[in-house]
Amino acid sequence: MAWRYALMIDPASRDDPRTDFSGSFTPVDPSAPALTVGELSTQRGDGIFESIGVVDGHAQECEAHLDRLAHSARLCDLPAPLLAQWRQAIALAAAECGPGESVIKLILSRGVEHGPTPTAWVTAATAGDFTDARTRGIRVVTLDRGYGIRTPAQAPWLLLGAKTLSYAVNMAAIREAKRRGADDAIFVTSDGFVLEAPTASLILRRGDTFVTPAAAGGILHGTTQVSVFAHLDARGFATAYETIPSAELASADAAWLVSSVRLAAPITAIDGAEIPLDAELTASVNAYLLSPRD
Ligand code: PLP
Repeated sequence: MAWRYALMIDPASRDDPRTDFSGSFTPVDPSAPALTVGELSTQRGDGIFESIGVVDGHAQECEAHLDRLAHSARLCDLPAPLLAQWRQAIALAAAECGPGESVIKLILSRGVEHGPTPTAWVTAATAGDFTDARTRGIRVVTLDRGYGIRTPAQAPWLLLGAKTLSYAVNMAAIREAKRRGADDAIFVTSDGFVLEAPTASLILRRGDTFVTPAAAGGILHGTTQVSVFAHLDARGFATAYETIPSAELASADAAWLVSSVRLAAPITAIDGAEIPLDAELTASVNAYLLSPRD
């Protein structure tokens, strides 16, 4: 990933009356050190983030990402982000992105240990090339997430459903998938229900109905999945949120992992069982995801 831009934000409080936040932004050299050693994002992974896809300088689904940032902040007892300020920071980062695909990251951490305020920053980078995953597809394996379908309700302190900076487990799952000869993973609960991938949402096709695991499983509500469902609804397909037993994965008529930057990656095999790849539908979904979306 080629870093193009970084902007430190002095986070405004919710009742800040300003409409112009330019005085609260400090552009920094993205290749130079910018955080102090007491920073809790690096010490404890204690913070939240968003990754926004950018196409030709247009930040996709900005409001959905800001809503989820605010939701994650609530779950983590972080001060509510003032969305007008973040919106302006995103606009500055998007203006630095140039043509093609990029990624803007929003990060809000608990701040420096014993310090008074959270730390916040935004970065922009050129996105990787995901042509292969989007066209030839990916092979996935299921991995036990280590908790049951009811755990998120019973143990909210696990912060399931918040997009926290603590992604070491998610990255370990992708490495395990690769060790098993696959490209990516689908997390399942210990009692046998489907969740999500380590960095993407899952969509399955059954006939003319498209389903995704219900968020009650403690998964992230994916902005891309919501967008794809709106697109499929508009094309006359049925869409639904369901509690999906893992045993149903192998019988899907098609399946995709969808996320903001890689977009829709068709799944060609789950635990070695081949899944048909619908090249035409996948191409049209990705064309839609690459068109400007607000
Ligand atoms: N689930 C997890 C765990 C993720 O990390 C992500 C994206 O990073 C997603 C789902 C997909 O979310 P989105 O479509 O908003 O990128």
